[in-house]
Amino acid sequence: MRRFFLMEKSSPRNQKWLEDRMHQVLERGFSDLIPANKIEIKFGQAARTRLGSIRLLRDKKKSRILINRLFQIEKIPLIVVDLTIAHELVHYVHGFSSPLEQKFCTPHAGGVVDKELKARGFGQDLLFQKNWLKKNWRLFLIQHQNQIRGFIRKPRSLHRRNSRLKIRFLAGLFGA
Ligand SMILES: [Zn+2]
Repeated sequence: MRRFFLMEKSSPRNQKWLEDRMHQVLERGFSDLIPANKIEIKFGQAARTRLGSIRLLRDKKKSRILINRLFQIEKIPLIVVDLTIAHELVHYVHGFSSPLEQKFCTPHAGGVVDKELKARGFGQDLLFQKNWLKKNWRLFLIQHQNQIRGFIRKPRSLHRRNSRLKIRFLAGLFGA
């Protein structure tokens, strides 16, 4: 048994909690959404750069949202969790990884996800999420590196030197 799969049982942020979060997000910003299949949500792998993802299962009866397992740790603000769920739901609404009609060529074309989040009332939350991640995510990852498969901590000097890379790294967090 690997360490990173053991977290869920002892954490109040369990499967039921995650499903509750999704229902709250749906109620708050997606009341117009009539799902064309079942939307399932689960914790996926602990990861450095992927906060969440959505995919359509092969039989198309389910779309599955996976949320970074590190979000079980209570240091991660609720807004950050909710926004990640909302981001994936926007993909669903746009017809990516869902049976709904596809509205754009690619999932992130022209910042369509953030635009949709703002239109659905998540503008402030989006700002909060981005700022929080920028300020806290790297340190959080270092503190929890033993929970991430294959995490290699770079020497400090490299961190400092590569601030440009760091910005690109942060930008990449919103790419999933
Ligand atoms: Zn995305």
